[in-house]
Amino acid sequence: MIYFDNNATTIPLPEVVEVMGACLREDYANPSSVHQFGQSVRHKIECAREQVAALLGATPREVIFTSGGTESINLAIRGALQSNPSRRRIVTTPVEHTATLSVMEQLAATGYEVIRVGVDQEGRIDEAEWADAITEDTALVSLLYANNETGVLFDVPKLATIAEAKGAIVHIDAVQAAGKIPIVVEDWPVHLVSISAHKFHGPKGIGALYVKRRTRVSPQIVGGSQERLLRGGTENVAGIVGMGLASKVALRDMDRVANEVRQMRGAFEASLIGSVPFARVVASTSDRLHTTSNIAFGRLQAEAILILLSEASVCASAGSACSSGSLEPSHVLQAMGIDESLAHGAIRFSFSKFNTPGEIDEVVSLLPDLLSRLTKLSGGAAS
Ligand code: PLP
Repeated sequence: MIYFDNNATTIPLPEVVEVMGACLREDYANPSSVHQFGQSVRHKIECAREQVAALLGATPREVIFTSGGTESINLAIRGALQSNPSRRRIVTTPVEHTATLSVMEQLAATGYEVIRVGVDQEGRIDEAEWADAITEDTALVSLLYANNETGVLFDVPKLATIAEAKGAIVHIDAVQAAGKIPIVVEDWPVHLVSISAHKFHGPKGIGALYVKRRTRVSPQIVGGSQERLLRGGTENVAGIVGMGLASKVALRDMDRVANEVRQMRGAFEASLIGSVPFARVVASTSDRLHTTSNIAFGRLQAEAILILLSEASVCASAGSACSSGSLEPSHVLQAMGIDESLAHGAIRFSFSKFNTPGEIDEVVSLLPDLLSRLTKLSGGAAS
């Protein structure tokens, strides 16, 4: 099998699986228990918190463990708004992950004014438009760092500075970026950053929210006093320990892996365009996360391409994993104003350090035949 769906989720590292197994078997005490056994488990959580903090350039006290990216996003947005009730405006973009978009929809229904600042065909935000949208009444802005469908990187330092200057709380969805490109939250004028372990070779169902010191956030899950009262419930110890190790490895190998994967992505796009001239790389001129290649195959249907790829044992996605299965073109490509006939045939290939140049060659060599079979079936010329 060739796995080119790493933005949906990544392969857990063998050492992560190992450490988690040992943790489940041996470290089963409740970390809130007073006895020594419980406290040794507490210590493991705190070591993992240090590892996650190091990945973000944060202090351990600023890291709150959650059940993943979606929960972090919910806690950040809802929690910050509840703690700052006087302002009623939120500024975001239409290309956010569905986790953010769904929260925004609910908030709009409860009376918040939600402004979605658009993007251009390359997925970029116009700075002046962004600045105009953020008024003195803006409670919060929520912004992706790396787009999960196109890989486009927003200029977080610039856009966050504009928002922070107007007194807004700044939340960054760094779920796709964390563990892949450097994040030093201390250098960013941001208050909240969401991340998720399964996107960087850690386990699923565990994530974290960076909460800058002195940022007021109301808990969304109440119960015990875990996670400094911001997230009640007995901790997912094995998940936390696995996330800690995945963070440590990601930070250690980041530059080397980024270079290798960037080279593979470059080779993939260059040879694909060479052998399938009608293929178009989405947002090719933007700064993009090195893992991501979104290719639009004009006039073809993404679902049909995915089925044939799957028959050839190649895993990829149409748009985001969460919305695949629907025939609607991706909301991200729609917001970018990409022609519908192109958007319908857009496939996201996403890479990781476990992919090889040989796999790139294999997929590039099978695509021309696969696409021409589909073109014949659909009875027309692809463009
Ligand atoms: N934000 C982005 C940009 C994502 O890509 C994802 C996952 O696809 C999420 C949030 C949600 O993360 P999780 O799957 O951990 O809930």
